[in-house]
Amino acid sequence: MSADVAAARAEARVRELRQWIREADYRYYVLDAPEVADGVYDSWMRELRHLEDAHPDLVAGDSPTQRVSGQVSVRFAPMRHPTPLLSLDNAFGPEELREFDARVQRWLGGDASQYICELKIDGLTVALTYEGGAFVRGATRGDGAVGEDVSANLRTLGCLPLRLRAPCPERLTVRGEVYLPRSAFTALNAAQTASGEPPFANPRNAAAGSLRQKDPSVTAGRGLRLWCYQILDGLECDQGEALRRLAGWGLPVEPHWEFRRDVEAVVVWCEAWRERRLDLDYAIDGLVVKVDSAEQRRRLGATGHGPRWAVAYKFPAETGRTRVRDIWVSVGRSGVLTPMAELDPIVLAGTTVSRASLHNADYVAAKDVRTGDIVLVRKAGEVIPEVVAVDVSARVANPPPFVMPTACPVCGGSVAQTEGEVAHRCTNPACPAQVMGLIIHWGGRGAMDIEGLGERTVRLLLREGLVHDPADLYALSAAQLAALPRFAAKSAENLVSGIAASRNRPLWRLLVGFGIRFVGERVAQVLARRFISLDALAAASVEELQAVPEIGEKIARSVHRYFTDPDNRSFIERLREVGMRIADPPPALGVAPPAAAGLSLAGKTFVLTGTLPGWTREEAAAAIEAAGGRVTAAASGRTDYVVAGQKAGGNLERARRLGATVLDEEGLRRLLEG
Ligand code: NAD
Repeated sequence: MSADVAAARAEARVRELRQWIREADYRYYVLDAPEVADGVYDSWMRELRHLEDAHPDLVAGDSPTQRVSGQVSVRFAPMRHPTPLLSLDNAFGPEELREFDARVQRWLGGDASQYICELKIDGLTVALTYEGGAFVRGATRGDGAVGEDVSANLRTLGCLPLRLRAPCPERLTVRGEVYLPRSAFTALNAAQTASGEPPFANPRNAAAGSLRQKDPSVTAGRGLRLWCYQILDGLECDQGEALRRLAGWGLPVEPHWEFRRDVEAVVVWCEAWRERRLDLDYAIDGLVVKVDSAEQRRRLGATGHGPRWAVAYKFPAETGRTRVRDIWVSVGRSGVLTPMAELDPIVLAGTTVSRASLHNADYVAAKDVRTGDIVLVRKAGEVIPEVVAVDVSARVANPPPFVMPTACPVCGGSVAQTEGEVAHRCTNPACPAQVMGLIIHWGGRGAMDIEGLGERTVRLLLREGLVHDPADLYALSAAQLAALPRFAAKSAENLVSGIAASRNRPLWRLLVGFGIRFVGERVAQVLARRFISLDALAAASVEELQAVPEIGEKIARSVHRYFTDPDNRSFIERLREVGMRIADPPPALGVAPPAAAGLSLAGKTFVLTGTLPGWTREEAAAAIEAAGGRVTAAASGRTDYVVAGQKAGGNLERARRLGATVLDEEGLRRLLEG
């Protein structure tokens, strides 16, 4: 091939790769709905880098290799970062780690001190700003220079401190990763599928989609968490010291970081995490190796894409080809019918995969998955195996397309589709599959936490006719259990005492156990804190529920529907009869929550409405919260003050009517000054 032809081919390929990468970036960063696996995207990026290295004349300023990938959506106000939030260069395998080390040694003249190794959390970057110790604003990474202002949504994260522990710098910006624990990711995708929404491809996209919601109450219900890992502005120190300081200020810091003396020790650490990562409750998509010394990091500097002092060690791709043995339909706790692909076993990301969810009938139709097909399977975010595509060219016979059954495959009950939902549901509430799902969920770690009540035990109890719903568990005796196959006297006693102990769980666990739609751990905690007893919660109207901070209309309606259902009411009565504790101890009268005690606005509730001339809403809210007050979105009977600016909305009228004190900006300042 002549040099000209080779150059023309390289140019065409570069153009094509850039086009694919831009399209993938848009789907990944803006729509939170990628279409190609990360491994495929990474391979395009590598190929593009190689071509640009080999043909430097093809390098262009707008090439994806030259900048931080990511985009800013118009859904949120733009926010400029104090320092650019860069991406990271990748190392695939030990050899590329050694190449990274060789570059570092070369630039530092061979005197690199030590590396610090951290887990690379599969979430999305946020930059959090604190002033005078109070959280004032937070943004996504966006394109690295400008991010999206998601302060209101970040405030709903229980693990994000609104006030740092003193002493801390007067002004501080830290970088962290917002992520979704595996359990919350699985629950969210189940809820997405049940309500006819497409499931998220991986925890990163689920976290991004959850944080970038217009309605903060939706974010609040998703169970997002945060790990902080970098001081961007406010203090310069070695990285290990930075992590200790962050933790000291009360920010959450992922605990598995370690120092390593040289690159060979780093390689051993990275390889060990290939397996260890599967034990974590959050997904990691690699590890990050950083030069520890601040002075050396300053000397190394950065390119437009990422710092020269760090590299992301990525785990190998998690996709593979296998055959669909069968497609069957499972029935979940809420009656949703889920088509499942039974696969020829294949090892992905260190575990054997023999089953993948096909989510719903529309999903099967869109992918056109049929029994006998050869499919590409991916372990999305190491959590749920997923059928990515069918190799239609490998289809030998012509198997019939999948059809959703019209009768429940477990109980034979009728199957219906609610308007506007993709999911098909079994309409029989006594369906054994639903009952089993509910009892397993009831005993689960996130709910009543009953040791020893796993799927096999529940199946056995149902088969023997000993339980019909979770309330029956509390009547079981050790003698009854010991008479069952696989139960010894000791394990029977343990289960009975585990069940008995669950009678005294806090109210929020009971609420999770009910399996009410949209009520996960966080929402349950918010409701329990506000209503304290199950009776008070059950008596609340939709409006009263919606007046609770973080509770939006969808959640309020779902909770209200649950407690007005006669079957659920009689279930609650039976729980009462078996001695279930259905109320938390009331907080001592006149005592503010511990964190706020001693602060001037402790126990006071505020609503902000209209534009304040001197402050943004976030600033005013931060100042109120820093003084111990609470800021809620809507006025209610519990609102003490409404702070009204120009063009104040309906909240002002409502709050006045309900007897709240109206303040202008000056009034708020005076109140804050005590
Ligand atoms: P990256 O994911 O390779 O690495 C940088 C990110 O790591 C940081 O922004 C930070 O958010 C995160 N991180 C987590 N823990 C960290 C820690 N302890 N220290 C430092 N950083 C930490 O880079 P990126 O630019 O965010 O994303 C690029 C990657 O996203 C690609 O490699 C690809 O896998 C994926 N992607 C996929 C698609 C697709 O269509 N599938 C599209 C675009 C990007």
